[in-house]
Amino acid sequence: MLQKIVIIGAGPAGLLLAHYLLRRGKYNVEIYEQRSDPRLMDTSPERTFPISLQERGRKAIRSIAGLEEAIAAASVFCNGTKIYRQSGKARDISRAVPIMTIDRNRLVMILLEHLTQSYTTEQLRVKFGCQCLQVDRKAKTVILQPEQGEAFTLTYDRLVAADGARSRIREYLAQDAGLHCEQSYVPDAYKTVILPRFNPALGLELEADKIHAWNLNKTRMMMVPQPGDRLNGMIVFDAQQNPLAGLSSKEEILAFFKDKFPLIGQLMSADEAEALLQRPVARLVTVSCDRFHEGDSILVIGDAAHAVSPSIGQGCNASLEDVLIFEQFLAQYQDDWAQALPAFSAHRVPEAHALKELSDYSFPPTKILAIEFVLRLMTGKLLHKWFPQWVKPFVLDLLQDENLSYSQILSLSQGWINKVKRSQLRTS
Ligand SMILES: Cc1cc2nc3c(=O)[nH]c(=O)nc-3n(C[C@H](O)[C@H](O)[C@H](O)COP(=O)(O)OP(=O)(O)OC[C@H]3O[C@@H](n4cnc5c(N)ncnc54)[C@H](O)[C@@H]3O)c2cc1C
Repeated sequence: MLQKIVIIGAGPAGLLLAHYLLRRGKYNVEIYEQRSDPRLMDTSPERTFPISLQERGRKAIRSIAGLEEAIAAASVFCNGTKIYRQSGKARDISRAVPIMTIDRNRLVMILLEHLTQSYTTEQLRVKFGCQCLQVDRKAKTVILQPEQGEAFTLTYDRLVAADGARSRIREYLAQDAGLHCEQSYVPDAYKTVILPRFNPALGLELEADKIHAWNLNKTRMMMVPQPGDRLNGMIVFDAQQNPLAGLSSKEEILAFFKDKFPLIGQLMSADEAEALLQRPVARLVTVSCDRFHEGDSILVIGDAAHAVSPSIGQGCNASLEDVLIFEQFLAQYQDDWAQALPAFSAHRVPEAHALKELSDYSFPPTKILAIEFVLRLMTGKLLHKWFPQWVKPFVLDLLQDENLSYSQILSLSQGWINKVKRSQLRTS
């Protein structure tokens, strides 16, 4: 008799976990997702963002035949970052191994299509437009609300909370099962920015294989090339000091960018300025829990377990790695969830706490530290090669090494992390 696994949330973590569980041949999987079916609607770039996938996340994807190739084919590979000054002059930080970047919704679409092509509807059910409202862990039921019609109750053998940073299931476990969880807002807020990559009238073109970044005191921008000659990215600012807050027309938006980020100002049309004006400011929460399971039947995974600031681009990589590691425990304990779940929590919670520390404190809050940061980025690898006893690789380089756990990276980077932490305390 196959066990029935109910996964709430069809994001990267929920969908990849479905792949891993189904190939074990011991489970039927049902996935419920509150958003509409992405295969049936126009995917608007307004509701998505680019994700950089490093070896840590790619390793988890690679384990499913054909998946990494499909994702790579829809990605853009960047071989470095260009960090611009206000004057337009840029520093190049090159990468030995190009970084794979893919739009979040495109990634989800590929994971989903691959899944539905690989399994029958007997093995896999995916229901969109269906929100999980409540859980009853003793009865092993969830109440789901479809977009149309009455809410219904569903039973499960095992339940997976892959429902993201604002997880309903995690909230239920915190209220009803003593899960200890801290949530806080990331101090930064952001607005999505979408631009063409060139302006032929001005003979201006940003490189297609570089991430483009600007750092202007407390306001930063990052733009990532997309297929179809677009740049998707964001303007990031202190949530208490939104530099766009007082601007009320597209002309004022254009004037702001021409002054503060001239290259962006030259690429932005009046329509894009208007769209940016209308777009909401996004706030992000971070999540830190003391365990990622309940009893022998509920698993919390991905952002639902450990949402972090996107500053070092690890949230999705860590969420995909969760899946790889959970399956290793399932294999080790012959699919006995009563053993695999606590083992997963014991292994993964300290990693998630280390990841949060790295995400909160890798980026410098002050100009002086920003200079040191860029210097370390540019010279760290070389200096480490020449003087390995004295110079450790820099935190961002260490993060590229998927063989190092987050707690090892934290321990190797503690000096820098403490420096940023002290500096943040002084400036807050
Ligand atoms: C601006 C930005 C940039 C980022 N850049 C990077 C990056 O470069 N690299 C990186 O590794 N990570 C990045 N991240 C983080 C990354 O997006 C997340 O870590 C990743 O999406 C987590 O996957 P997930 O499946 O756990 O959660 P999600 O992607 O949040 O998916 C959860 C799903 O659950 C659904 N859901 C929620 N509640 C319910 C409910 N009650 N019922 C049914 N369905 C529900 C949601 O609709 C959603 O589809 C970035 C994040 C942001 C915001």
